[in-house]
Amino acid sequence: MSGADARLCDRIGGGRALALIDGNSFYCSCERVFDARLARVPVIVLSNNDGCAIARTAEAKALGIKMGDPYFKIRGLCEAQGVRVFSSNYTLYGDMSARINAIYRDATPDVEVYSIDESFLDLTAFMRRDRVALARDIRATVRAWTGIPTCVGIGPTKTLAKLANHIAKTVPELDGVCDLTEPAAYEHWLCRIHVGELWGVGRASLPKLEALGIDTVADLRDIDPRPVRKALTVVGERMIHELRGVSCLGLELVPARRKGCAVTRSFSGRVTERAELEQAVAAHATRGRVRQ
Ligand SMILES: [Mg+2]
Repeated sequence: MSGADARLCDRIGGGRALALIDGNSFYCSCERVFDARLARVPVIVLSNNDGCAIARTAEAKALGIKMGDPYFKIRGLCEAQGVRVFSSNYTLYGDMSARINAIYRDATPDVEVYSIDESFLDLTAFMRRDRVALARDIRATVRAWTGIPTCVGIGPTKTLAKLANHIAKTVPELDGVCDLTEPAAYEHWLCRIHVGELWGVGRASLPKLEALGIDTVADLRDIDPRPVRKALTVVGERMIHELRGVSCLGLELVPARRKGCAVTRSFSGRVTERAELEQAVAAHATRGRVRQ
């Protein structure tokens, strides 16, 4: 092993350990908790005002329903295939999310709630050999106490934790947990995952990376950062460092104050009564304040 390889190995296995835990098909799983008959049937949840599909169970994905599909386009398919369709219920999802994060905080006080169904946990204080067992324990507890299935990815940086989560979700043999702070797993997976699966690589940046000859995540890790910085700015360069185990994205334990907030609604029909308008404006303004 060269000196550079040894240093990389040290950073991967001997540095920080962040876990990214996320709820599988989260909104659909929340609906399933309250109706056992939904357990094995395809389920989707629609966006505000029932516009598009924003959550799909594995069974719904297998029918070809894509994220963001407008409901009017898939209504026929849903009816023919017996897909159970739900309007979104953010009060329910927010409540389930709070319960799940309370379970995470029992394991470690350092939790960043990244989105309604994703949290980063700092597991650095745990021995490496105990981390997978801990992750399995947290998964089992969340499942038992809330009914929500989860996957756990562990890595020395946020980017690697997110990648580990993707691997945990897509490789059934891993049983929902992937630990990339394990140097052998890190070596094994990075050269097998396409760079397009990486957090932050989107439709705009993928062709630029491919033009540089990058195919796998390992290719990106090993490339000279300068041309990547040119093509993808400092964001691309940061990705390379994160893949090498150098943390560029810290854990945000205190949520940033929101700069703006909107609760938008429209009326279902023409409103001609002043009292009705006043009542609606007051109700929506109150909701906006509560969310902020
Ligand atoms: Mg999810």
